[in-house]
Formats: sequence, C-alpha cells, structure tokens
Amino acid sequence: SGGSKTMTSNSSALTIVEVDLGNRSYPVYIGSGLLHHPHFLQKHLVGKKVLVVTNTTIASLYLDKVIDALTRDNPEISVETVILPDGEKYKNMETLMKVFQQAIESRLDRRSTFLALGGGVIGDMCGFAASTFMRGASFIQVPTTVMAQVDSSVGGKTAINHPLGKNLIGSFYQPQCTLIDTDTLTTLSDRELSSGLAEVIKCGLIMDADFFKWQEENINALLAKNPHAIAYAIKRSCEIKAQLVSLDEMECGIRAILNFGHTFGHAIENGVGYGQWLHGEAIAVGMVMAADLSLRLGWIDETLVKRIHTILEHARLPTSPPQCMTFEMFKSIMSVDKKVADGVLRLVLLKGTLGNCTFTSDYDKETLDETLRSFCK
Ligand code: NAD
Ligand code: MG
Repeated sequence: SGGSKTMTSNSSALTIVEVDLGNRSYPVYIGSGLLHHPHFLQKHLVGKKVLVVTNTTIASLYLDKVIDALTRDNPEISVETVILPDGEKYKNMETLMKVFQQAIESRLDRRSTFLALGGGVIGDMCGFAASTFMRGASFIQVPTTVMAQVDSSVGGKTAINHPLGKNLIGSFYQPQCTLIDTDTLTTLSDRELSSGLAEVIKCGLIMDADFFKWQEENINALLAKNPHAIAYAIKRSCEIKAQLVSLDEMECGIRAILNFGHTFGHAIENGVGYGQWLHGEAIAVGMVMAADLSLRLGWIDETLVKRIHTILEHARLPTSPPQCMTFEMFKSIMSVDKKVADGVLRLVLLKGTLGNCTFTSDYDKETLDETLRSFCK
C-alpha cells in the first residue's frame, strides 16, 4: 500500500503516487507543467459542473490555466468560480457560507465537482464544503504551496477554524485526485517555501533515514527551487504520507506520527497568535523541542539532535521559540492538545536510529518539564 510508480510523459517526468484506500483510492499526480495537460483533471470530473474555489492571490496567477484545462475540447463542462479573501483568518464559517452560496446559485448538485486551487487554507475549506454540500459532492485538489503539496492535499483531512480553536470543525473526505503542478511553486515566497520544507524534513525524521540524508545533501537545491530536487522531495513526502494514511485513515494509531513536532508547534502558533508564525516555522521549533526531550530520555544521541538543528537552520527555519513563550504557556496550551487521552499527553518522540519514532504517553513527565524550561526564559 502507498506505493508509487513513475512514468514519463512528453518532456516532463510524471510521478503518480496512489493513496490506497479501497474504493476511495485516488492518484496524486506530480510533475512539471501538468496543468497544460487537460486529461488529468477531466478524467476525474464528476458531473458537468465544476466550482473552482480559490483566493484573490492565486486567481490572478493560475485560475485561467485551470479553467482552460477543465474546458479545452470539452464544451459540455461549465465552470463557476468563487474567489475568497486570502488568509488563515478567513478559514471560517462565514467564508464557507460564501462557497455554499455560489454552489447553490450555480445550481450545483451532488453530481458536481468542487476544485480547490490554492494552499492548505483553500484545500481545507473547499474539501469541507464538498463533504457537506448536499451530503457530499465530488472534490479535486490542485495544491499550490509546498505545505499543501506535501501535506494538506493528501490524506483527506478537511476543516475550518472556530473562534475557540484551529481546525475544530471538519471531516475526513478524500478527493477524486490530487494534481500537483510543481511549476506553480515558481511564484511562492521564500518564507512559504521554507515553511513547507519543515514538513518534508519531518517525513525523513519519522520514517526514512535515506530521505533525510538526501535532504541534507540537497537543501540548497530545494531552496533554489531546483525542479528535480523539488519534485523528488514532494514525491517522497507524498509516498510517506500516503502509506501512513492507507494504514490508518482516521488516525486511530500509526498516522499520528505525522504529528511529530506538532504538539510543541501548536503551542507556539497558539501562544503567539495564529498568523504570526507560519505553521512550518512553529513545527520546526517543535521538532527541535521533541528531539531535545528524546535526547534527555536517552532515546537518541546528540549527533542526531545536531543534524536536526543544522538542516533546519540551512532551510532558514527557526530553532527556538519566541521570547513571549513561557513555561506556563507551553504547559497550559499543551494540556488541551487533541492528543491528550485520559489526562495524559501523548507525544511523538524520536527513538533509536534516524528515521524511527514512537507515539507514546510513556515518558518521564519531569523530563518534559526540563525540556520546556531549557527553551524558555
Ligand atoms: P495558505 O493556504 O495560507 O497559503 C500561504 C500563502 O501563499 C497564501 O497567502 C496564499 O495565497 C499564497 N499562495 C498559495 N499558492 C501560491 C503560489 N503558487 N504562488 C504565490 N502565492 C501562493 O497556507 P499553507 O501553508 O498552504 O496551508 C496552511 C493551512 O493548511 C492551515 O490552515 C493548516 O491548518 C492547513 N493544513 C492542513 C493539513 C491537512 O492535513 N488537511 C495539513 C497541513 C496544513
Ligand atoms: Mg503540519
């Protein structure tokens, strides 16, 4: 399960990673220039109406291309669009209602397709809209950030935020396909690129020592958006995520290791106020803190901790929390984490050699406090 096969089409290499979920299996297409080839999207359309959900920034860059790919030599298809404001702060009920408004006005029905064109914010919102519109319409992901291409567009988690917390309202809902045109990354900012690389680095640390070593050697190529390096990093990250999702779609067990660094990271995102730090930036620090705890527990050696520091610094990611984060803030925010069960916080920690980890509540709680104190004023 979670296998991938590589094929070549014309000039650009195409990789297909299959997400293996029985009758809800779907392909993740990865390659340069894929939006120029209409058949990838057209093959997965359900019904004759498509609602493209995107935002103001991405619409001006890629909307025409997507509409062309949907409609070329295909006069039966009608495309509607809804262009949302850009930002995590709009990932809420009010914006979701705008999507439904457009869907209803455009006379979409269950046999229609929602298409998410954008980063994780658009993908999460559009996916949730598709999963609840008339109890479920079809859905396609066209992710345009590294974060969305390696993480949010694979695995079927959809959500909007509630004023009391992030991603509190959502569903598991798999798309018909995910189409990753790596050319869309040419317009992505350096800061967003680095943020997405945090999740790529995470994949190596939890599952694949060779992939981590490859990243150590190719970090400059990744930062320079070298197309071959970028395509490989996306492919390998999608394979790892697809494999974990295939084994545990609803995150009852093994899928939870994808949350490495996320408990500490969420505390930072929450503590500084959502939107101040990018998700990947907070996760970078979270991974350093989780590695520190693993070291203090005697589960990994110091050279691994140093390598994690080094690669994150090379990736232009932070490695320590902001000054405003106190020990008490970490404690109180982490105590309401989704991974608390029966009052005990379970953490993903590194254990053994590079590429191995464990999801456990069986660690010394005073050692956790030592880690937190060592990172706070
Ligand atoms: P984002 O969607 O806000 O995109 C970041 C910024 O980049 C935005 O301003 C966007 O307009 C812009 N942008 C997007 N593509 C661009 C391009 N090609 N060129 C230029 N600019 C572009 O942020 P993100 O990091 O992609 O996603 C973060 C969101 O994803 C969060 O809401 C998070 O909760 C969610 N997420 C979900 C999952 C999941 O499994 N569902 C996993 C990870 C993250
Ligand atoms: Mg994440």
